[in-house]
Amino acid sequence: MHNDLIIEGLTKQFATASSVAISDINLTVKEGSLATLLGPSGCGKSTTLNCVAGLEEPTEGKIRVGDFVMSDTSKGLILPPEQRHLGMVFQSYALWPHMKVFDNVAFSLKLQNVNRNEMKKRVMDSLDLVGLADLANRYPFQLSGGQRQRVALARAVVARPRLLLLDEPLSNLDAKIRELARVWVRELQQRVGITTIYVTHDQSEAFAMSDMIAVINKGVLLQFAPPEELYSHPATQFVAEFIGATSFLKGAIATIDGNKITVRVANGDILKLTDHSGKAWNVNQNVVIAIRSERVEMAGSKSGNILNAGVKNSTYLGSKWQHVVDTGSGTLKVETTDTVTNDRLSLYLPPDAILLFNEEK
Ligand code: ATP
Repeated sequence: MHNDLIIEGLTKQFATASSVAISDINLTVKEGSLATLLGPSGCGKSTTLNCVAGLEEPTEGKIRVGDFVMSDTSKGLILPPEQRHLGMVFQSYALWPHMKVFDNVAFSLKLQNVNRNEMKKRVMDSLDLVGLADLANRYPFQLSGGQRQRVALARAVVARPRLLLLDEPLSNLDAKIRELARVWVRELQQRVGITTIYVTHDQSEAFAMSDMIAVINKGVLLQFAPPEELYSHPATQFVAEFIGATSFLKGAIATIDGNKITVRVANGDILKLTDHSGKAWNVNQNVVIAIRSERVEMAGSKSGNILNAGVKNSTYLGSKWQHVVDTGSGTLKVETTDTVTNDRLSLYLPPDAILLFNEEK
C-alpha cells in the first residue's frame, strides 16, 4: 500500500563490535498493521527498531514509509529522529515527573505550537483512547505502572505519527497487568490504525498481538509471517524451538515421493510425513524432524508412524499432563488430558504434524 514501512538491506555494524548486530534485514510492514520483532536477547531487535527511529545510524540499507525516505545509506541520507514524525514507547515510561498527565501528553503538540483548543481536544481524545481521560490532572507518581504506560502510549499517538515504535513496553508490568495491557495496546493500535513495530522476546505476547511476526536470531531475519503460519510452518528448527513446546528427533531421509517423505530415525523406525516447506531434499540427507507436544497421539489401534517409548517423567500443568518420554531415537514431549498408568507408551505421530528441517550445526 501507499504508506507501508519498507526496510531494505538493513545492516548495522557497531564500530566496537567484532560481528554485525543485524545483517541484511528486509521487511515490509503493511500500512495500519502491527509487526513484532521477536527473538532472544541480543539478536538485534532493538538495533533494528533504533535504525527505524533514527537513534542508530545504519551501516547499509534503506528505510522508508511509502515515498518518505527516512534513511538511505547509498545516498548518505539519515534523517534525525525529530524529522521522522514517529511515536515511541520504551520499557521505562519516561514521563516528566513534574508535569501532570495532561501536560505530559500535550508536550509534543506544544512544541508544534498547536493552538490551545485543538491541543486540548487532541490530548483528551488520546487519553480517552487509553481510558484515562479522568486522570488528566494527576501527576505520574499518583498512577500505577500500567496507567503510566498508558499515558506514555497516549503521548506517543497524540501527534498522529507516521509510525508507532514500541520497545518491550510491557516488560516492567507484573504478569497479570501485562496480559490485560496486551489487549489495550492492540485495541489502541487498531483504533488509531497506525503502522506499528513492536519489540519483544516473549513469544506469547507476539502471538497475542501481531498481524505479522519477524523472528530474528543473531542479527538474521529467519521468518516473517502471520502468527498462524509461524506456528504451523516454522521455517527453521530455531523458529520451531523458539516458539515453543516442540520436540526434535534426528534422522536421515529414507525415501522421497513428491512431498511424501519417509525418515529413518536413530533406532531404525521409519516415519512418514508430508512436507510443506517447498525445500529440495535428498535421500540419505541428515535431517531433524519436529513435532509439537499437543500433536502426538496415543496409538490406540492405529498402525504406521508408531513410536514405542518409556515414560521418563510426567508433570501436571493444570489443564493437561505433560509426559517426557524416551523413544530410543530421542526424547519427546507429549501432552494429554489424562494421566498415564503405564511406564511404556505406544505413540502415533500424524504425518501432517511432523515438520522437516535441515540439521542445524
Ligand atoms: P535485548 O532483548 O536484550 O534488548 P536485542 O535483540 O534488542 O536484545 P540489540 O540490543 O539490538 O539486541 O543488540 C544486538 C547486538 O548488537 C548485540 O550483540 C549487542 O551486544 C550489540 N550492540 C547493541 N548496541 C551496541 C553498541 N552501542 N555497541 C556495540 N554493540 C552493540
